Amino acid sequence: MLTAEQTNRWLERFAEKIEANKDYLSELDGIIGDGDHGNNMARGIEEMRKKLQAADPASGSEVLKNASAALLSKIGGAAGPLYGTALLEMSKQMTEADDLSAVVKAGLDGVQKRGKAEEGEKTMIDVFAPVYRELESGNLTVEAVEAAVESTRELKATKGRASYLGERSIGELDPGAVSIGYLFISLIEEGLT
Ligand code: ADP
Ligand code: MG
Ligand code: MG
Repeated sequence: MLTAEQTNRWLERFAEKIEANKDYLSELDGIIGDGDHGNNMARGIEEMRKKLQAADPASGSEVLKNASAALLSKIGGAAGPLYGTALLEMSKQMTEADDLSAVVKAGLDGVQKRGKAEEGEKTMIDVFAPVYRELESGNLTVEAVEAAVESTRELKATKGRASYLGERSIGELDPGAVSIGYLFISLIEEGLT
C-alpha cells in the first residue's frame, strides 16, 4: 500500500492543517464542548512530528504505527484514544490490504468499536463513514469531505461531551469531525487516493 515516504507526506500535511487551525478547533469545541480540541490535537501532532522525524520506517504501516502511539499518548481527552485507534488499525490493515478503502474501513471499525458511536451522533464518525464509502466507490473528493463535515452542523450530539447540551448542540460543527476531515483532505491533496 502506501510507502513510508507517502505516509510521511500525508501526515505532515495533516499536521500543518491542525497547527494552522488549532484556535478554530478549540473555538468550535468551546461552543459544544470544553474548548480544548485544538490544543489537544496540536499537542499530539507535535509529539507525532518528533517521533516521525526520529524514525527510519520501512513502510507506510510503520509510519502510521509510530504516529498512532504519539497521538494516543499526547492528545488526551476523548479524541486521543480514538485517533490512536484509528491510526493503529489502519497501520495493521496497510500491511495486508491493497486498496486504501480497506485501510480506512479498518480505522472506522476500530473507532466505532472503541467509541460506540453510529452515524448521526455528531462525531468524527459522520466524516469517517462517508469518506470510506466514497473511497470504496472511487469517488472521494475534497468537496465530499467538506460536505460531510458540514453535515454535522444540524445534528444533535448524543455521544461525547457535546451530548450534555442536548438540543443546544445543534447549529455548530463538531470539532472532531472538522479535525478528521483535515486528515482525509490531506490524503486527497497529496494525491494518494
Ligand atoms: P474531550 O471531549 O474529552 O474534551 P476533544 O475535545 O479532544 O475531547 O474531542 C472531542 C471530539 O471527539 C468530538 O468533537 C467528537 O468528534 C469526538 N468524539 C467524542 N466522543 C466520541 C465517540 N464516542 N465516538 C467518536 N467520536 C467521538
Ligand atoms: Mg474537548
Ligand atoms: Mg477535554
